[in-house]
Amino acid sequence: MRALVLSDIHANLEALEAVLSDARNRGGFDVIWCLGDTVGYGPDPGACVDRIREFDLVAIAGNHDHAAIGLIDARDFNPAAKAAAEWTAGQIDARHVEFLSSLPFVSVQEPFTLVHGSLRDPIVEYLLDRDSASGTLALLETKYCFVGHSHIPFVCCEVDGNPLIIDFKDFPEDELVALGNERQIINPGGVGQPRDRDPRPSYAVYDSEEANILRHRVTYDIAKTQKKMKSANLPGHLIERLEYGI
Ligand code: ZN
Repeated sequence: MRALVLSDIHANLEALEAVLSDARNRGGFDVIWCLGDTVGYGPDPGACVDRIREFDLVAIAGNHDHAAIGLIDARDFNPAAKAAAEWTAGQIDARHVEFLSSLPFVSVQEPFTLVHGSLRDPIVEYLLDRDSASGTLALLETKYCFVGHSHIPFVCCEVDGNPLIIDFKDFPEDELVALGNERQIINPGGVGQPRDRDPRPSYAVYDSEEANILRHRVTYDIAKTQKKMKSANLPGHLIERLEYGI
């Protein structure tokens, strides 16, 4: 079984299409595991939801998914994210609202647990350091965990079965990563708004027979997405950041 692992699509249809076609060219996939924030920031929230639903799909909730349907208060967002959340709410229809409100916080797909932020606080906490990684490992009931939310790709390993000893590593591009004996937390990077100073959408493929994961990046027509965002009057900062990957 091959799972295409996508996070933080953020309503960027051009980025999503580039990832789907690249994944198809590299041997395809059986199911999409979507780690949340399918909407928010970008110009095509409804179309991105519709597109991933064309596939066999396991999806969980992200903070922007909940903000778009009023399940969390966008007042806690920064002004640009809040403006985008309000704009998104006006773009999606009842079917999208129903889908987004049906998303669980956590999904177990053995041997992985999928969560947007962390197991301590599923759509709020950013898992980026040893403390947050230990907190999630303490609650993790499967061997491995996929997270998103930070839009930063990494592989985080428990050392010698001790959840207090954590090793954060780069998640290399185009290089097989074997799922070893240690427990691991893995972030595939962001599809629609990468933030590791590389504007190319990032995604991963998990191969259950080979017990490995592989991360790839793709290019897409950033200017086309930016043009749509300008026409929608989305905040300038959100438009510019796409070309810098920040
Ligand atoms: Zn996000």
